[in-house]
Amino acid sequence: MSEIDQLVGALTTGRQIDLPIYLRAVEGGDSLRQELAAVQSDMEISTPLFVSGTSQSCAVCNDLAPERASRTTVADNSRSEVRRIADLVNENADAVIAVGGGRPIDVAKAAALLVDVPVVVIPTQLSADGIASPIAVIREDGGDVVSERGQLPVAVVADLELLAGAPINFARAGVGDLLGNRTALEDWRIAAAAGQELVDDFAALLASCAHLLIEGLDLSPLARGEMTIDLARRLLDGLVLSGLAMEIAGSSRPCSGSEHLISHALDALEPGTAAHGEQVAFGTLIATALQGGDPAEPRALMAAAGLNGALTGFGISPARMAEVIKFGPSTRPGRYTVLDRERPSLQSLRTLIEGLHSA
Ligand SMILES: [Zn+2]
Repeated sequence: MSEIDQLVGALTTGRQIDLPIYLRAVEGGDSLRQELAAVQSDMEISTPLFVSGTSQSCAVCNDLAPERASRTTVADNSRSEVRRIADLVNENADAVIAVGGGRPIDVAKAAALLVDVPVVVIPTQLSADGIASPIAVIREDGGDVVSERGQLPVAVVADLELLAGAPINFARAGVGDLLGNRTALEDWRIAAAAGQELVDDFAALLASCAHLLIEGLDLSPLARGEMTIDLARRLLDGLVLSGLAMEIAGSSRPCSGSEHLISHALDALEPGTAAHGEQVAFGTLIATALQGGDPAEPRALMAAAGLNGALTGFGISPARMAEVIKFGPSTRPGRYTVLDRERPSLQSLRTLIEGLHSA
């Protein structure tokens, strides 16, 4: 069923959405353990499988998980890891507790949906909006990366001290991912104007609120390499709100437009360029300009947050970056954006990018 069919169905018959039950933010490892135990008790989770990444999140998981608890690490976000985690849950677990950043959470959400158990998320970084979303980004056996439905987390339990102490680039990337909400929403309206989709007003409202949470913030500590508890809380709230917007919409549409297509194109053609959120921030500059807005606005927020590489396209030549942007729509066929409406030429994109260099 297409996104528009889903939405028309929801609008005419009423809709049912899931929302997480808990969003708990505490300070310190002891408080995190206590809060997680309380959530497990409330949810009657007795035999969870702890899933983490292999490095920093593994250390956090080892501190957090009781001695006798089942635990495993995931090396990547591959389909085979999803199947392995689902099998482990089937053996003897009544929930998945995902500790980490993007990949462990993606794998946990995809596996938990397969075997229908709840997911609790303990984020160790604030780099993207998958923390409380129903979307899982998974790499197929053939190498293709797909964005698919996963289990919506039932709880997010966060240690703000831990998040504030994570490498600063994670938080910068998280700001970049939230900056993309504005252009994603405009692309949604553009798709609606072209008769391609309907805008879900409440999903759009939430995604817009998520953007506003950081728009009004003093992001300058990030540029200095400093992260505060207050910034961590706002960023957490913004990323969680984005996730809920996607749940309401039933897709990533409210938070993913042409700026994300540009990031996906970088992943495909220039892999390893930068973190997802940093690439999205760059995409936001291009998308804003194509949509007829003023790139100076996102640019100021990016400069304040220290997203320096994204300001000029990560050192990739304008000619090459123009090719990358042209490739964007083919990374997600069917997602109509300003790139489809404007169909910019390579030369006009090149001129646009050169303008960013001299801004
Ligand atoms: Zn994103």
